[in-house]
Amino acid sequence: RAKGLGGRRVEVFAAHMHAEAVRRLETAADLQRALLDQQFAIEYQPVVDLATSRVTAVEALVRWCRGSGVFTPPEQFLGTAEDTGLIVPLSEWILREACREVAEWRAANWDIGLSVNLSKRQIMAAGFVETVSEALSDSGLPPSALTLEVIEEMLVEDAEDTIGKLSDLRALGVRLAIDDFGTGYASLALLRQLPVDIIKIDPSFVSGLGRDETLSLLTRTIVRLGHDLGLIVVAEGIERPEQLDLLREMGCSRGQGYLVGRPMAAQGVSSLIRTSLTASA
Ligand code: C2E
Ligand code: MG
Ligand code: MG
Ligand code: MG
Repeated sequence: RAKGLGGRRVEVFAAHMHAEAVRRLETAADLQRALLDQQFAIEYQPVVDLATSRVTAVEALVRWCRGSGVFTPPEQFLGTAEDTGLIVPLSEWILREACREVAEWRAANWDIGLSVNLSKRQIMAAGFVETVSEALSDSGLPPSALTLEVIEEMLVEDAEDTIGKLSDLRALGVRLAIDDFGTGYASLALLRQLPVDIIKIDPSFVSGLGRDETLSLLTRTIVRLGHDLGLIVVAEGIERPEQLDLLREMGCSRGQGYLVGRPMAAQGVSSLIRTSLTASA
């Protein structure tokens, strides 16, 4: 009896696994086609100087809009893209396209930087450092205007190789940021391993500002830690005015979130930056 039941459970499990495998396969094939059909786009989210409200940079966020108009969030396809290796050409396209667009905005006298999220496989791919330097030289974007965002998971395998490559890029003038800071087990150890310039406080801390004493205290502590280490601290996920006020009061340098600016298409950024220029002039 017990065996029969167990067998049934295995069957149900296998059917579920099968559906999951088919879904992933579909996504893999879809992704390949999407890359050829240019179904990917980039949205840019402003990063704002909290003291002056000036937009200092934009973060490039990939978007996948299928022909049917269906929007698939990055977290639903980046895993498959990573597993299949498609992340490598996709990331190169994002990097080149974003460098090109931001270089154009800078040429129009908008002094902003660009932040790009890296993936593990992208860093591990042969020629990664060369690809980044080519994206810079081809677009004319100065290395100091580019920030590369990494998360802790990227340093789990082949840490030495990854740190070596990122350090080489930093030696060229590129800046490094730790994204989702505070959520990993080794956020503090990372600061010792990687020559970083920026930490981005995870929204899970920012969300509790003014509502949860522990989270408020942790946020304040991370801001102070970052500043004591001479780093730029970016708070992510600012949605409420109260959070913005508290972060300003804590002296947090930069902020990002729906309240200060939503991710938007390239045309949206052009008008936003024009407004911000006029306001600060
Ligand atoms: P991330 O790098 O931490 O990016 C921030 C995410 O938070 C973005 O989600 C952004 O749209 C969202 N966000 C910004 N402000 C707010 C807010 O006030 N409230 C809330 N609830 N969310 C906010 P998105 O675009 O869905 O991206 C999710 C993650 O996917 C990113 O997290 C990043 O890890 C990854 N990702 C996105 N684009 C790329 C890319 O081009 N390459 C790679 N390798 N990863 C990417
Ligand atoms: Mg990011
Ligand atoms: Mg983040
Ligand atoms: Mg994230």
